[in-house]
Amino acid sequence: MAATSASAIQNAVTPSRPSVRDVDVCIIGAGPVGASLACRLAVDGISVAIVDRADLSPMEHPDFDGRAYAIAAGPKKLLEEAGIWQALPLSSCPIEDILVTDGRPGEPASSLFLEFTREDARQPFGWMVEARALRVALNATLHIVPGITVLAPAEARVIRRPEGADIHLDDGQSFKASLVVAADGRKSRLRSEAGIPLTKLSYGQTAIVCAIAHEFPHDNGALEHFLPAGPFAQLPMAGTEEHPYLSAIVWSDKDALAQRFADLPDDVFAKEIERRMGSNRLGKVSPIGRRWVYPLSAQYAQRYTDTRLLLVGDAAHGIHPIAGQGLNLGFRDIIALSDILVTAHAKGEDLGAPVLLARYQARCRPANMLMLAATDALDRLFSNNNPVVRLARDIGIAGVHRLPALRKAFVKHAMGL
Ligand SMILES: Cc1cc2nc3c(=O)[nH]c(=O)nc-3n(C[C@H](O)[C@H](O)[C@H](O)COP(=O)(O)OP(=O)(O)OC[C@H]3O[C@@H](n4cnc5c(N)ncnc54)[C@H](O)[C@@H]3O)c2cc1C
Repeated sequence: MAATSASAIQNAVTPSRPSVRDVDVCIIGAGPVGASLACRLAVDGISVAIVDRADLSPMEHPDFDGRAYAIAAGPKKLLEEAGIWQALPLSSCPIEDILVTDGRPGEPASSLFLEFTREDARQPFGWMVEARALRVALNATLHIVPGITVLAPAEARVIRRPEGADIHLDDGQSFKASLVVAADGRKSRLRSEAGIPLTKLSYGQTAIVCAIAHEFPHDNGALEHFLPAGPFAQLPMAGTEEHPYLSAIVWSDKDALAQRFADLPDDVFAKEIERRMGSNRLGKVSPIGRRWVYPLSAQYAQRYTDTRLLLVGDAAHGIHPIAGQGLNLGFRDIIALSDILVTAHAKGEDLGAPVLLARYQARCRPANMLMLAATDALDRLFSNNNPVVRLARDIGIAGVHRLPALRKAFVKHAMGL
């Protein structure tokens, strides 16, 4: 009797979900990749249901949390087409200069360096967007664009057959979809349920991520300073009234040391950051807000497809953040996939047909494997204190610096153009 009353009360306070219609595409996971895909497809009239175990209510003012993404030019265009960029509640900061240096903590950077400047591209190399601003924009857009059914917080059980997929929600509702997209992150349950093998590479490194205020302006410049224990990146952020000069840092260090660094008191932590910048370009620094610690690894799925199923974003690939390209790779999956699906939808084709799934894998997987291999090689080459290797790589980066055509080619690729 008591149990019946409790469930009656629960039903009275939990608004029941509107019944879910069958859709063209069901996306599991509403992280930046899954949510952007939902908005992009719906803009072109494809009906979408998106399921996430986290709550996706539109948010007002989430607290500053010190995390930010570098979003390249190609992915920015995708976000504009999906109506997300326009909904960003905070300014983004253009990256107009990237300095690549090599050194040791507490020492000036090597005199051989590589610098990408405004002359190497006709637009910024990328834009720094606060993670909380992107989340606000995604949640708002998911609820505004017609044709998207948002199912969150919810868990789904997916049954896939050659003729279609059935999705069963934890509240007892069911619906059908022609295609299921796994955008459920690195530990993708859909990927493991489909039996798709995963290969993992470990780096023995952990990243400390936070924001820093500094004495001098960054002039929209980013720094990638290679140190023996791992790369240290400074990325320019839009300032606030309180902190006019603000940057994000991604400091990769050995697993055993990173947590100890992250736990240091503010003043000692600030000194350790200054020791890793290779110069006094930004002057005195002070850490702002929370410090995040992420163990680093790379991983890739052996295939991106199964019956009526596609993997996108971190469910398909995860890379070292050395080049700030992890999310951008996921966005590039979405650019290719939305192109394939929108064209097929306009022709009235079955969106889960094996030929379309194969086309997506052929467009994305080789390029993603190349980026994974490049970031892996960069980290292994630079996280190394051998003097001969150091000299060779310094000559290498200085060589690229002197070849404008090669610099421009690098930039074009990294910008996703
Ligand atoms: C230290 C660090 C710094 C980084 N910096 C950058 C950067 O500067 N630029 C950049 O491009 N990338 C960066 N990245 C990479 C970037 O964070 C990821 O690539 C990106 O978050 C992947 O997005 P996603 O949507 O694929 O997955 P996720 O962000 O992991 O989202 C997965 C979603 O799926 C949901 N979910 C999971 N399982 C289920 C389930 N069973 N049912 C329902 N929902 C589920 C989760 O709740 C979540 O919302 C960085 C990564 C690290 C570790």
